[in-house]
Amino acid sequence: MDHIRLHEPGGDSGEMIDPFGRQVSYLRVSVTDRCDFRCVYCMAENMTFLPKRDLLTLEELDRLCTVFVEKGVKKLRLTGGEPLVRRNIMSLIENLSRHLKTGALEELTITTNGSQLARFAGDLYRHGVRRLNVSLDTLDARKFKDITRWGDLSKVLDGVKAAQDAGLAVKINMVALKNFNEDEIVAMLEWCHGQDMDLTLIETMPLGDIDGDRTDQYLPLSQVRANLLDRFEMEDIPYKTGGPARYVRVKQTGGRLGFITPLTHNFCESCNRVRLTCTGTLYMCLGQEDAADLRAPLRASEGNQLVATAIDEAISRKPKGHDFVIDRAHNRPALTRHMSVTGG
Ligand code: SAM
Ligand code: SF4
Repeated sequence: MDHIRLHEPGGDSGEMIDPFGRQVSYLRVSVTDRCDFRCVYCMAENMTFLPKRDLLTLEELDRLCTVFVEKGVKKLRLTGGEPLVRRNIMSLIENLSRHLKTGALEELTITTNGSQLARFAGDLYRHGVRRLNVSLDTLDARKFKDITRWGDLSKVLDGVKAAQDAGLAVKINMVALKNFNEDEIVAMLEWCHGQDMDLTLIETMPLGDIDGDRTDQYLPLSQVRANLLDRFEMEDIPYKTGGPARYVRVKQTGGRLGFITPLTHNFCESCNRVRLTCTGTLYMCLGQEDAADLRAPLRASEGNQLVATAIDEAISRKPKGHDFVIDRAHNRPALTRHMSVTGG
């Protein structure tokens, strides 16, 4: 039987297929550039944040996300900055959950530093969130303070517990940092797997000026993996969450361990995602400067046609990949924007 297409790919209301044949089905939305932490690899201590007037309203964010869902986005992740510090963020999540009810959207999720989770976990579950990522680089309270500058570990641990109690599956994201937490990876893995949480290790990426030198932080995950093999048996598994992590099953713990390796392993060939900032700028690649403004077409008319056309035009420019490098010869950030702009 012939395959029937309702929409031509790349057409005004159709699916988003980029020039390399990759279908865009995953949208990450940075709902704020603000944060209640100042992680050393992410932000400088004194950050200048966007003036409030430049931000999209929650209604505008909902409208834009809805256009993306109509164009084939199946997975929506809210991030930031810290998504849970944006005022009234639960109303956006509640509104977006209508797309889960219709089945148009398969997953609505967030990436959070966990500081506000104790307060919001129940609401998140009620609004259809079933899994979330919590960023946690150390289980040592003093080191946690050092790395986040402003954070309180006990609040994050309470948040993780509240999320699990509410029925949310929690995945811990740990940025692997040389001379900081490399000796804690085994303890983190055992802690996560002991509580039925996946752990994903992330390499530092050269985004934005921070108060320091990134070559001192960079720890290749190929090396971490080799060290872990002295202690654990790991089996590659085809598990996918829609993101770039490659997973193994750790035999001794029975749990899953993911690796996100933008620097040692280029993950671009299967890229299915784009990133929207809180000002309505669409980045087609985390590692490239090219972007499209969706705020102007969004505000130019009440209908969504202009914005749908602007999205198609942007997707037609999605680049093949990034070329991050961290070494002594490339000591500047590959990109001037911070991770808190695009949300990782
Ligand atoms: N505030 C939330 C959080 O920390 O989970 C969401 C935004 S944060 C920018 C998203 C993720 O990016 C976090 O897991 C964080 O550790 C990671 N991240 C931030 N800067 C990074 C960098 N330069 N390289 C690698 N990961 C980074
Ligand atoms: Fe905030 Fe997340 Fe960046 Fe840390 S990584 S400063 S919690 S946005």
